[in-house]
Amino acid sequence: MTILSIIQPDNPLLRRQARRVTDFSGDLQALIDDMIATMTAAQGVGLAGPQVAQSKRIIVARLPADEGSAAEYGEDAGKLYIVANPRVVWRSENKVSGVEGCLSLPGLLGDVERFESIEITGQDRQGKPIRLSASGWLARVFQHEIDHLDGILYIDIATAVWRPEEADSLAGEVSEAQ
Ligand code: ZN
Repeated sequence: MTILSIIQPDNPLLRRQARRVTDFSGDLQALIDDMIATMTAAQGVGLAGPQVAQSKRIIVARLPADEGSAAEYGEDAGKLYIVANPRVVWRSENKVSGVEGCLSLPGLLGDVERFESIEITGQDRQGKPIRLSASGWLARVFQHEIDHLDGILYIDIATAVWRPEEADSLAGEVSEAQ
């Protein structure tokens, strides 16, 4: 497995509409494994193909699995999600505001309104159709990652963006980067 470079907005690939995944053979399997390794190494909770300069509609996500996270996120904690060609097919009426960071925008945080719950369809890593329901932080991660596939960054839709002043607060938020 390889730790991939995470691109930043100076790379136009981050702003491009990613292409549908149609080939689930070895190259995609290697990319998925590399994306998981990259997300883990960067202590992120999600990663989308364009962030590693691959214009493909593929996302990976995993919420932390420490004790506190397990208490807060239940069965979502520590579970690995891999979704090709994800599409939001249902959205709750309710939206919630929350703090987001992004591995492609180091040193920034923002308040972003997201749907509290969503359902998405897509394909697993073998290309088999899947449908997932997500609420809370997991729903937020999915929305953030799916936006990446359309070239959208959270700073485009944030109600506030700031640069945390204190090293402490930055360190505390790194685990939430997506
Ligand atoms: Zn991101």
